[in-house]
Amino acid sequence: MCKNLGELCGMDHTSNNKYVRLKRRIYLVIFPLLFITNATYWLFSPYVDRFMGLVLPYLCLFFAIVWILIYYNRLIRTCEIISLGIFGLYHLFRVYFLTGQLEEGIINVYVLWSPIYFIYIFMVLERKKALGYSLFIFLITVIMGISHFDNPRANDTLIQFYISTVLYTLILFYFQRIVSAYIESDMLRKNAYFDSLTDIGNRRSVDTWLENEIKQCQECNTVFSIIYFDIDHFKKINDEYGHDIGDHILKEFSSLVKDYIRPSDYFGRWGGEEFIIISTNQSLTEATQFAEELRKIIENHPFRYVDHVTASFGVSCFQRNDAPKTIIKRADQALYSAKNNGRNMVKAI
Ligand code: GH3
Ligand code: MG
Ligand code: MG
Repeated sequence: MCKNLGELCGMDHTSNNKYVRLKRRIYLVIFPLLFITNATYWLFSPYVDRFMGLVLPYLCLFFAIVWILIYYNRLIRTCEIISLGIFGLYHLFRVYFLTGQLEEGIINVYVLWSPIYFIYIFMVLERKKALGYSLFIFLITVIMGISHFDNPRANDTLIQFYISTVLYTLILFYFQRIVSAYIESDMLRKNAYFDSLTDIGNRRSVDTWLENEIKQCQECNTVFSIIYFDIDHFKKINDEYGHDIGDHILKEFSSLVKDYIRPSDYFGRWGGEEFIIISTNQSLTEATQFAEELRKIIENHPFRYVDHVTASFGVSCFQRNDAPKTIIKRADQALYSAKNNGRNMVKAI
């Protein structure tokens, strides 16, 4: 069932989770703000009537409970839906009082807040449902205001209030379409350059980084090295522990390497259990030492499900007329030599 913008965009599970996480972050800011605003209004405003005096403390309590639940990642969807209902009732009551007060020439401050309610509807519901629900709430508010239309003090403000409500509902409807198109293209771009399992650059990224690094080294007369490495006997890990644990090892392995490299280095997944580091400004000797350190770190790391994981490394350094393919080919030969000589070692060419 299509429930929110994430699913509406046809995002995959990971992207949709990202959208849910983003919404959660927004709620973690919005609910305390709503609590503070309403508590201040309740405690200090001279305009709080008997009805609001009764409603506001419960509303503040509700905001606090929702914030705690969202903070602890509990019942987020339920909180969203219940909040939508409560905000709806609150909105209708406020508009009811607002329409009445217009006859006395008072413009209630709630006119400033009502757009936020409609933004919230579009955050929680799928686009078409949000439009339908917004128009339904709008129609109820129009019915509430009908009796005040013949009052010259009220009708001008009322008409403007209704027209502006329809306008920003329509703007939100189209804005959500723009946002969904943007998120979709952003995700497509990200998927094209990032490996979804390990969250590091993929083969296309490595190719681009290599091309750029080669260009820069040719122009500035500097060097760089590449470290091509492959997890040893990874097939055995899959066979013994299962594919899911294999995936977990790949993630843990990648984050271990990510923590080790320098900010100026590039690190990507070349494919399967093979990775490449582009070690900027490092000669063959320096990169070989760097790889040796990494080899030891991996060998001594207590992986979560598998006691012992090792990797073999091939290192090669940039030469003047290199293309991405030629430098990778040399590193691959070095890696092949490391594998042939017993694995868990570094070889350089
Ligand atoms: P060697 O020491 O010679 O590198 O042996 P190896 O077993 O690591 O190498 P081999 O090429 O025989 O096997 C690689 C295995 O990696 C086979 C493949 O199923 C597995 N693999 C590739 N990509 C993934 C992945 O994304 N997840 C998991 N779980 N396994 C993967
Ligand atoms: Mg391997
Ligand atoms: Mg391999």
